Amino acid sequence: MSDVIRKSVGLGVAPNLADYAAYKRQFTWARARQELDGLPGSQGLNIAYEAVDRHAHTVRAIHAAIRWLARDGSKREFTFGELSLLSNRFANALSSLGINAGDRVFALTGRIPALYLAALGTWKHRAVFCTLFSAFGPEPIRQRMNLGEASVLVTTPALYKRKIIPVRADLPTLKHVILVSENEGAPPPNTLSWDALMEASSDAYTIAPTRPDDIALLHFTSGTTGIPKGAVHVHEAVVAHHITGKLALDLHPDDIYWCTADPGWVTGTSYGIIAPLTNGVTSIVDEAEFDAERWYNILQNHRVSVWYTAPTAIRMMMKAGLDLVRQHRTPDLRFLASVGEPLNPEAVRWGVDAFGLPFHDNWWQTETGGIMLANFAAMDIRPGSMGKPMPGIEAALVAQDKAGRINVIENPDEQGELALKAGWPSMFRAYLNQSDRYKTCFADGWYLTGDLAKRDCDGYYWFIGRKDDVIKTSGHLIGPFEVESVLMEHPAVAEAGVIGKPDPVAFELIKAFVSLKSGYAANEELRRALLAHARHRLGAAIAPKQLEFAQSLPKTRSGKIMRRLLKARELGLPEGDLSTLETST
Ligand code: ATP
Ligand code: MG
Repeated sequence: MSDVIRKSVGLGVAPNLADYAAYKRQFTWARARQELDGLPGSQGLNIAYEAVDRHAHTVRAIHAAIRWLARDGSKREFTFGELSLLSNRFANALSSLGINAGDRVFALTGRIPALYLAALGTWKHRAVFCTLFSAFGPEPIRQRMNLGEASVLVTTPALYKRKIIPVRADLPTLKHVILVSENEGAPPPNTLSWDALMEASSDAYTIAPTRPDDIALLHFTSGTTGIPKGAVHVHEAVVAHHITGKLALDLHPDDIYWCTADPGWVTGTSYGIIAPLTNGVTSIVDEAEFDAERWYNILQNHRVSVWYTAPTAIRMMMKAGLDLVRQHRTPDLRFLASVGEPLNPEAVRWGVDAFGLPFHDNWWQTETGGIMLANFAAMDIRPGSMGKPMPGIEAALVAQDKAGRINVIENPDEQGELALKAGWPSMFRAYLNQSDRYKTCFADGWYLTGDLAKRDCDGYYWFIGRKDDVIKTSGHLIGPFEVESVLMEHPAVAEAGVIGKPDPVAFELIKAFVSLKSGYAANEELRRALLAHARHRLGAAIAPKQLEFAQSLPKTRSGKIMRRLLKARELGLPEGDLSTLETST
């Protein structure tokens, strides 16, 4: 068992979830639903109403909901009241264009205010929202828009020119392109002006009755293990977004909260748009990309109190060094959380060195729609663990037998596939056009996540690896995360990615790819030192036999190490779908 970081670290306010066991016992989803208002007159549940309109009817109307930081250093703030009115305008604009409930509205914009207004207005109109990461090339955009049957696209003139014009003739369902432009002037042919549409539309809109299971969102997975899948989510998901924001991110009404994820990924929507708004907090939205110094300035100057980020960003900050952090003061920070990839114990502890606070890892997927396992504020942290299940979530480790039956593993420390009892509100309801694949994710009432994990005797879950990434060597099943975390302990290592290579004797042998922190030279001596360190910590059977230095590791645009690509390249196999590959690597 690794060490523990005591819960008292960093608690400035009383956590929303003070007693995990007691809260879990009394929790029901029906009770969580009671924390939201529902549409007036019991007309159902609509994400946008819960996010902005219900606050707009209270004193919270004048509270800042979004503080947008432009790339050029300027900023713009929107109150809950303003968001409510502006999203009404967009809902009316959709109506004037003949868009109906259930139609698909896509956004390809980067993190600009129109994205947030478009999302909220789309939900009000009961259309379905899908954001695409703006760095995608034309082909991945075309594929996703056709798969999602896009009727409307909100984008910018620059993105339109580079990414849409080349494929516009191949987007048969697309009826309207709305361009958000900073410059005056007539929009190009076959496009509409965002400003003109918004101006012409009324800011009064009544949301029609919305069923909890009406579709609200399409989200494509990260493509870490293969071709990205389109996950379908419904309005009822807002119950999970809200309560997980409150319990797992510990959002309090006075927080300044910053989720660094782009809404092109599910984190940037569930926790970059919905959860902070339903919880009534002020959210920072930064238009710019990662830059360690810019980020520290944002934390300091905007007095961020709750910060939700990802392991890849944390590792980049670690790479930039502690000196830079120490030039900044962040006394308002009180809760740090991370998601998206396993968070190495080193990274959890680095939070304590850098900010006096540990990072709280939590686990979830595009398919789960919201946080499922978390290190809660009032819990001791075990660095390297994903924490415990959210109240209302029944998690288990399972093995599926040949007949497809599920056996639940009860023994502590035994590994199995992480499974969740189906039926929580933000559970995905389909994979677009892949109903068979959807069905195979469920067995005996369990949703099978595709991730392997184990649980210790105190109920903490530990990530082992994705089923596809697990390495079989000399009779052992090894998760790459364990090996990568040990390599990360070495002061020279910035990032590590580990794969299994076919081997006639061991079945697979472990190979590590390592990128170094600045100031370290990739030479034979260091290579040997790293292999020896891993052997010492892991034992000869589990330690990597081969180690190669890399400038950087291939990652998805959402920051996940693509081990399948390391492996394909190593073995000279086809590289598969690369639409989500971060192209600077
Ligand atoms: P694809 O399904 O297309 O291969 P993906 O699984 O990476 O892509 P996402 O839904 O964005 O797409 O990511 C969810 C996955 O990310 C989880 O199944 C898990 O493997 C990993 N993950 C997320 N959070 C954590 C965490 N805290 N610890 C370990 N792994 C995590
Ligand atoms: Mg996945």
